[in-house]
Amino acid sequence: MDLFPVMAGKAYESVHFFHDAETGLKALVSLHDTTLGAGLGGTRALSTYETEADAVDDVLRLARGMTYKAALAGLPHGGGKAVIMLPKGPFDRAALFTAFGRAVESLGGRYITTEDSGTSPEDMDHVRKGTKSVVGIARSKGGSGDPSPFTAYGCLRGIQAVAQFSMGRSDLQGLSVAIMGVGHVGYHLARLLKEQGANLWIADVNETALRRAQDELGAKVVSPQELVGLEVDVYAPCALGGAINDQTLAQLRCKAVAGAANNQLREERHGSLLAKRGIVYAPDYAINAGGLINVAQEVVGYDENQSREKCSKIYDTILMILERAKAEGTTPDVVADRIVDERIAAAKKAGA
Ligand code: NAD
Repeated sequence: MDLFPVMAGKAYESVHFFHDAETGLKALVSLHDTTLGAGLGGTRALSTYETEADAVDDVLRLARGMTYKAALAGLPHGGGKAVIMLPKGPFDRAALFTAFGRAVESLGGRYITTEDSGTSPEDMDHVRKGTKSVVGIARSKGGSGDPSPFTAYGCLRGIQAVAQFSMGRSDLQGLSVAIMGVGHVGYHLARLLKEQGANLWIADVNETALRRAQDELGAKVVSPQELVGLEVDVYAPCALGGAINDQTLAQLRCKAVAGAANNQLREERHGSLLAKRGIVYAPDYAINAGGLINVAQEVVGYDENQSREKCSKIYDTILMILERAKAEGTTPDVVADRIVDERIAAAKKAGA
């Protein structure tokens, strides 16, 4: 694989390869753009990467995503991400993650890691033995803890902005919301929406998760297929990526799509197709930044109130994006990317 042309294509700063013979560590760290600050992003650890090229693809794509998410959230961070190609056979997990911590430390604070798919708080405890550049510590140890209530709170603020933009009121009393996936974020979002007087419909493939939201919050349960086509004010994807695709677009009868799931648009063109259908879209990486905002707070000393205050500003971000998209005759996802590019260009100019 010719890496430099790929890096040049999307302006990547660096890709680091780490190997430790003793523990079998094979890790990659990519820093996409650190103009606004140290790259912040989780470590994904999988044993299923077939080739190094698969791991490189993943780390590059994810690192760039973090640049955009952090910049749009107004955080003093750039985009970084790590991928560990876990050994296929048995290995000493504690030793491997400690070696990974030393690898992160060798980057001298330019990359700050945290948990992601395939890594746990315990893994991060081992990483911490090798580096100071790790966040996402448990509440019991003075850290920021579970990010999902903050992601849900940011998402609620985003839905309030969507209501303000499309209905001229940010109070959610009587608003109908369909939530796909009531796991960590979806459940908390449902709880917050219920407190605001919204009417809830939910779907999930996990019976236990469904029953909890139904029993505790009185949400109405329907099948995932039925939920997509409900005539509601807001459809909130909170399960898998790719929720907005050719198939679901044909069924959607909501006024807006505003949920926490990552990578909601299966393809870029689905953003324009939503707009053509007259459906307002809150860009995923803008509305679901609450968890990142909360974990970033640890870098400067964790304070829950400050974290909530910053998550609350997701309201202003979403409203600004929607108003600008309307004024410029383009889609909200395009505007979100544009805002980030402008912020980074301005910071580069100021530092030049
Ligand atoms: P989770 O695994 O706790 O919850 C996802 C829920 O979706 C589960 O209950 C699962 O059963 C359900 N689900 C899976 N497949 C489904 C399907 N086909 N149809 C209906 N339901 C299905 O995950 P989470 O932490 O709540 O994250 C939800 C989404 O939000 C993910 O896309 C995640 O990447 C994104 N996100 C999460 C956070 C966070 O703080 N946890 C932050 C930013 C983005």
